[in-house]
Amino acid sequence: MKESDRVIVVGAGPVGLCLSLALAQEGIRTCLIELLSEDNFLDQIPRAGTNHPATLEMFDRIGLYAKIEPRGIIAPIFHYWDRSEQALVAAFDHAHLKDDTRFPYVLQCERIKIVEEALRMAKADPQIDLRLATTFTAFEQNADWVVARVSNPTGEEEAIEGRYIVSAEGARSIVRKGLDIEFEGFTYADRTLNIEVAYDFRQHGYAERNYISDPVEWSNLFHWKGPPDRWRVHFPTQPEDDPDAIQRPEALQARLQGLLPKPGDYEICGSNLYTVHQRVAKRFRVGRAILAGDSAHVNSPIGAMGMNSGVHDAFNLTDKLVPILRNKADDSALDRYDRQRRHVAVKHTQAQTVRNKRLLAEQDPAIRKRNNEELRRTAEDPRLARAFLLRSSLIESLREAEQIA
Ligand SMILES: Cc1cc2nc3c(=O)[nH]c(=O)nc-3n(C[C@H](O)[C@H](O)[C@H](O)COP(=O)(O)OP(=O)(O)OC[C@H]3O[C@@H](n4cnc5c(N)ncnc54)[C@H](O)[C@@H]3O)c2cc1C
Repeated sequence: MKESDRVIVVGAGPVGLCLSLALAQEGIRTCLIELLSEDNFLDQIPRAGTNHPATLEMFDRIGLYAKIEPRGIIAPIFHYWDRSEQALVAAFDHAHLKDDTRFPYVLQCERIKIVEEALRMAKADPQIDLRLATTFTAFEQNADWVVARVSNPTGEEEAIEGRYIVSAEGARSIVRKGLDIEFEGFTYADRTLNIEVAYDFRQHGYAERNYISDPVEWSNLFHWKGPPDRWRVHFPTQPEDDPDAIQRPEALQARLQGLLPKPGDYEICGSNLYTVHQRVAKRFRVGRAILAGDSAHVNSPIGAMGMNSGVHDAFNLTDKLVPILRNKADDSALDRYDRQRRHVAVKHTQAQTVRNKRLLAEQDPAIRKRNNEELRRTAEDPRLARAFLLRSSLIESLREAEQIA
């Protein structure tokens, strides 16, 4: 394979790393460009961390699962709680998926651990030309090749040639903007507050992963493996809130005490605010340029679908690029990638995450009551529970995509 036959992958996030590793496994060379350096790669803010069963199967395909499993928590069960009633509403058990997947559980393992392990694998792989501390700035394409313009670690401009370029550089994708592809959707006016806290919520009956509805202050509550063990709690904010004021230690304590009153202060390890977008690119492919992961779609983290669906993009794309680069398929296969993965983004991840937020924040008492009854009934009926879990874990989205020609 000639150097110029390689795939240029922009961004060593979970999507760019999985794509590079999966292509490398098939003997396809990539040039993986990442602006972070060896020194600051691990200084990234807390983000995704719930890995669904189908994603675990994909990690396993490239040997990544074995590296992250010891660093995560196997969590077969997740909960819905009603904060105003201080009650557990429903417990969903992934064991209902035992005939659908080899991994009938989620793995609670943070994005940062996944990229750390995947980066280590990428460094050791001779098929991957890893360029850290290198900023991608622009690209050009014609019928035969693409050229990525980068600023390398010494600050010099460099041109990198390849057959295809995959934009996995996240929501601010330079490739998407360069192609003038509309990022359709909306941005919530309110930001979400994330608090990291060292406290074992399981002693109060919570699972490793909890969705807590409340008409005033809904939450997500997740457990991450230490040392030291930490929990992450998400709270809504008001658009007019002062970011500094709501993150003062006493304000963070008040939030946590409101969720679960306890004697003494909580041990807070950190906090941050993030903006939530619900957007999908109008096209995932233009010629030799392809969008994947957050570059193509972004959504609220309620339901844990952003990183998971991005990783699913990476593997779908691998299965299209490999035969194309071996001259066994023409590149119309990439249009199928566009059709399949846009369908999943619009009909599954967008629809479900918008619904998930509405469910947690619902204010009408009659609708709340009906929602809770439905969740309870669904969790208790094995057939309904399996159908629910197939959707929530994105297995249904993958099966549906397979039917798209
Ligand atoms: C608070 C929060 C919680 C979340 N929780 C979940 C969850 O539980 N489950 C889930 O599935 N998803 C979750 N998500 C979403 C998830 O984090 C993203 O969907 C996922 O990280 C996207 O991966 P990616 O590889 O596409 O992009 P990113 O993770 O954004 O990675 C992009 C990479 O590209 C690099 N880069 C950017 N610009 C350039 C450039 N010009 N040149 C070179 N490199 C560049 C960046 O440094 C980065 O390394 C959450 C998000 C947030 C904000």
